[in-house]
Amino acid sequence: MRQRLHSNFGRKRRLAVMSTHTSPLARAGTTKAGGMNVYVADLSRHLAEMGWDVDVFTRRDRIDAPDMEELAPGARLFHVDAGPPISLPPIEIGAHVSEFTNGVERIADGLEPYDLVHSHYWVAGLSGIELARRWQCPHAVMFHTLGAVKEVFQQPEPPFRIEGERRVIACSDAIIGATSHERAFLIGQYGAEASQVRVVPCGLDLEAFHRAGIQESRCRLAQAMPELGVEDGPGILFVGRLEQAKGADLLVRSLPLIKSRSDANLWVVGGDERDEDERSRLRQLAAESGVEDRVRFASAVDRQGLPDLYRAAAVCAVPSAYESFGLVAVEAMASGTPAVATRVGGLASTIAHGRTGLLVGDRRPEGFAAALDRLLGDNGLRGRMGEAAAAEMSVYSWRSVARSILDVYEDLLSAQADAGSAREACCPDSVESLLVAAS
Ligand code: UDP
Repeated sequence: MRQRLHSNFGRKRRLAVMSTHTSPLARAGTTKAGGMNVYVADLSRHLAEMGWDVDVFTRRDRIDAPDMEELAPGARLFHVDAGPPISLPPIEIGAHVSEFTNGVERIADGLEPYDLVHSHYWVAGLSGIELARRWQCPHAVMFHTLGAVKEVFQQPEPPFRIEGERRVIACSDAIIGATSHERAFLIGQYGAEASQVRVVPCGLDLEAFHRAGIQESRCRLAQAMPELGVEDGPGILFVGRLEQAKGADLLVRSLPLIKSRSDANLWVVGGDERDEDERSRLRQLAAESGVEDRVRFASAVDRQGLPDLYRAAAVCAVPSAYESFGLVAVEAMASGTPAVATRVGGLASTIAHGRTGLLVGDRRPEGFAAALDRLLGDNGLRGRMGEAAAAEMSVYSWRSVARSILDVYEDLLSAQADAGSAREACCPDSVESLLVAAS
């Protein structure tokens, strides 16, 4: 352990970001990569543009990953040895947290000290609290998903995850929640102190996601993704990881119930070759529902391909069981396409029902079909909602979101300068006992 430099004169602020279980460079929209990966990559880039030195640490999950690579000017990504260099489920990575923590410390020993640690997801938080303790600097955490929230939506999680989240909360100086709903959950279910929890929404790249010529986008998309059959009729877009909680099956079942446009097709975009089983299940369901020829599949698209996809779609559907924020809906709305989504989590706060999209109260095909019918059958309404949606999403611009995150950091640094970390006393022991349970 090295002594922290308490003066900041003449040097840039330095941030260590823990993203243990998944890399910000992983392809979003595939099995283990989604909103959090996009968030960590974009936030790092913006903080670097705002003058911070940012180092992100992730577990090495392939043998040929370089030790270090540049994410953006001023932001680097380190691959840390911890456990076998293969892809592992997050829960198994729990057993390698100590190795990861020590690996980060070894790398950091050769670098300038960090001013602050920001961790993403509970596994990373376990390393983050320990490193912040060793480095005597503040720790901020963002969970992205919480075990106890998933349980409410009938997705059981191992008890040591929730125990781990509690530990991270107890030992963190700030917890950043994406919505006031998440804040209430952190306080009510996890016992976080109100003063610890700050609400900062996820950021949006408005340079990429904005309104532009729909016809041009449809033409480009028809060329780039012929498998969608863009010219065949209006597209109902599902885009994201092909996991059951995202609810693509609900849309397949809704499709035959839509009366206003029998030529509407469902575009299911996401996943890669590892998701063939889920695609087969959806194809089978489409065949049983009599809409086999109207459900089109495409693999995950890269970030540059997304704006045309959103603009070319008539509506973007997000029928998830739960979303802590739901970047897809916000990206679609910013691109001028209304969203139809379940009234849960972040979706209930980012979508203004009847103005920028429609929220559906329960996850039945009838409810989704009725909402989709309403929009597909009324071009005027769809146009007005798309226009309002694009205008309202500017509140999520990365420029203001990154500024709000920096405000949190600055508050933590001032508080530390005044009084030292208030959290340290709550967490005298290491996380070893918890990790034994995880292994
Ligand atoms: N995404 C992507 N390509 C795809 C599918 C999804 O880049 O083919 C991105 C999408 O644009 C969004 C993120 O993955 O930024 C998904 O985030 P969201 O919050 O909607 O869901 P999560 O994956 O976090 O559950």
